[in-house]
Amino acid sequence: MTARKILFLVLDGISDRPCPELAGKTPLQAAKKPNLDAFAREGICGIMDTIAPGIRPGSDTAHLALLGYDPHTYYTGRGPLECEGVGIAMEPGMIGFRCNYATCAKDGQVTDRRAGRIFDTAALSAAIQEGVDLKKFGVEFTFRSGAGHRAALALKGKGLGHCISSNDPKKEGVPPLTIQAVKRTKQDKKTATVCNEFVRQATAILAGHPLNKERERRGLSPANMVLMRGAGEMGHFEPFSTRYGISGSVISAASLIAGIGAAVGLKRVHVDGITGSQDSNLAGKIAAAQDELRSQDFVLVNIKGADESGHDGLAGQKTAFIEKIDAAIAPLRTLQDIIIVICADHSTPCSVKDHSADPVPVVIRGDGVRTDEIVRFDEVSCAEGGLNRIPGSSLLLIALDLINRSRKYGA
Ligand code: ZN
Ligand code: ZN
Repeated sequence: MTARKILFLVLDGISDRPCPELAGKTPLQAAKKPNLDAFAREGICGIMDTIAPGIRPGSDTAHLALLGYDPHTYYTGRGPLECEGVGIAMEPGMIGFRCNYATCAKDGQVTDRRAGRIFDTAALSAAIQEGVDLKKFGVEFTFRSGAGHRAALALKGKGLGHCISSNDPKKEGVPPLTIQAVKRTKQDKKTATVCNEFVRQATAILAGHPLNKERERRGLSPANMVLMRGAGEMGHFEPFSTRYGISGSVISAASLIAGIGAAVGLKRVHVDGITGSQDSNLAGKIAAAQDELRSQDFVLVNIKGADESGHDGLAGQKTAFIEKIDAAIAPLRTLQDIIIVICADHSTPCSVKDHSADPVPVVIRGDGVRTDEIVRFDEVSCAEGGLNRIPGSSLLLIALDLINRSRKYGA
């Protein structure tokens, strides 16, 4: 029998290096994880360079590579993908930014880059959308709230560039920066001028907004400033369904990953209680994936929490979260007819507190897969597996071949 569908379970940043706190084991080696190990036993294992050996991936470039979209071609910055993540339909050539609401004191210094972790900013964003006018530059814009203090801005117009700096000083107690053209081309200079004007008008609107007046009365930090960064130009993404001839969905709390899914035309699935953190509703995500597989050919699920532990350098917490993931994925063990791929998007070693280029473990399980001798899902065991060492760009192609949907090369 040949499987008909594909599930990608991407365990964000789960891969690691030996940790002194774990007696030299990685969190994956230290965790009790009977389900992940069962997939390793029943499938074929290997290690994977998501982009290429020695390249330290971001989550965004890694996920583009896993979906078969070469980040060197498709990635110009995080902004346009964040825009897609908050529901802005980006067209090729539009310039996108990720934004933050922040607090500025009367003397002009940034006192809180997250505006007291404000979470309901829809009214503020609506006021900016309504009130800011960039017509004199021939530019249209869309500004939308994201989760928490976050937002995204998209610019549409002729002669815009994306090589511009940010106004985010990246620290508190200093004024916001003036946005500048990095390459000093005509396009970049125009965009920098447009952005500075956007910030100026938005600041005026936010200063008088009743929601901010109310926050000040209650002793909360007003969201009176927009910081913007991550400028990028939206590229031409060939739709996933055209490229591979299959339908697909994405399930992710992280707007960046959901935005990548939206950019390539995957259906975004909302699940209650998913947070992108340790307290996420993992059972809900796994149930949603099973639901989606009834109607879609491909489902990508991203589970984020382990990456957070890696960035915080907490090996014990990462190990405990791996055990939580393991319990949550038990229902996938009985899935029939599906090629299940489990991997990380990159390593986030607790000793580095950031992503590293170390290859990640990967397992593929399902009908027709040639199994190997590996019985544990971890960085060291999988390195001995039958898949050997593969590039991330091959992963979907291998899975497509297993469901008999790859195109023949040659006669
Ligand atoms: Zn990641
Ligand atoms: Zn990360």
